[in-house]
Amino acid sequence: MQTRLTGSRYHVLLRSLVLLFAVIAVPDASADWFKRTLDVMGTRVQVELWQQDEVKAQACIDKVFAEMHRIDALMSPYKPDSEVSLINAGAGSKAIAVSEEVYDLLQRSVAISAMSGGAFDITFSSVGYYYDYRQKLQPDEELIRQKLDAINYKNLQLKDRTVHFARAGMRIDLGGIAKGHAVDNAIEILKQCDVQQALVSAGGDSRILGDRQGRPWMIGIRHPRDSAAVALSMPLTDSAMSTSGDYERFFIAGDERIHHIINPKTGRSADRSWSATVIGPRATVTDALSTTLFVLGADRGLELIETLDGIDAIIIDASGVVHYSSGLMDPAEKN
Ligand code: AMP
Ligand code: MG
Repeated sequence: MQTRLTGSRYHVLLRSLVLLFAVIAVPDASADWFKRTLDVMGTRVQVELWQQDEVKAQACIDKVFAEMHRIDALMSPYKPDSEVSLINAGAGSKAIAVSEEVYDLLQRSVAISAMSGGAFDITFSSVGYYYDYRQKLQPDEELIRQKLDAINYKNLQLKDRTVHFARAGMRIDLGGIAKGHAVDNAIEILKQCDVQQALVSAGGDSRILGDRQGRPWMIGIRHPRDSAAVALSMPLTDSAMSTSGDYERFFIAGDERIHHIINPKTGRSADRSWSATVIGPRATVTDALSTTLFVLGADRGLELIETLDGIDAIIIDASGVVHYSSGLMDPAEKN
């Protein structure tokens, strides 16, 4: 299904999902919503949860924020002692032993690379490292030409919990999957805190536990060309949603938008989409897939999504046309 993104503010309530409104909960007079934000992992993290007791609620949020700091220390490519930095510094000359957690994310990343024909590739950083969006810097033609062959997940050798780069000049960056992982871990922490209703978001990656007092949460997808407007809103319960957009980190050079999602085939900003949104049960998966779909674009992206059970997507292409996966369509509109 396609619709054109014309007005700055229009909401689509897909009929099949509206049924979720039918659930009605009995409110508990003593409980309340508690909300806090934290700037970490280069993004804004937000936790909002329903709890009986404020002290307990704040203690749960403290645990979630501590987990976000732990993951940042482990996976940030900008922190010299992170495991990712140690891999980047050493895996070109020898196999580097890593934690089970990082190894698991590396394996998942490689699986998504294989599934997407290399559209998702954490070795994008072999070229991506040379972009600086704040300083408005990009690698020149010659540098891209020299480094492009170093982007190839097939040269990332994973064995017995070690990582080795089979080619010189390789770098990795988990920026396309680590926030989703952090959000999933946060939800597990909240479950252990006996929280039954919560929203955790880290930049464009969100996951919802339960519902919002008997109603779904409405999670917005930003209008890619109007930062003040919501393009679409999705009613969600007990699921994750990630959006990757070319408006998150970018600068304009001439008439080109240079942004943070790199097409591994060219070493340049991917240009088939304005944004890609993925909805599914786990944020680790929706995070990696939103980056993947952004690179693949609407046709190939939705083709991939149709092969995956329980996962849906909305892609706003580079002309502003909105494309939905079949799971979000009204049954009457499907062929
Ligand atoms: P997201 O925030 O999920 O849209 O992912 C964007 C981040 O993913 C970027 O800031 C990079 O760290 C990383 N990234 C960029 N291009 C790719 C790619 N082709 N494959 C995997 N990760 C990427
Ligand atoms: Mg992503």
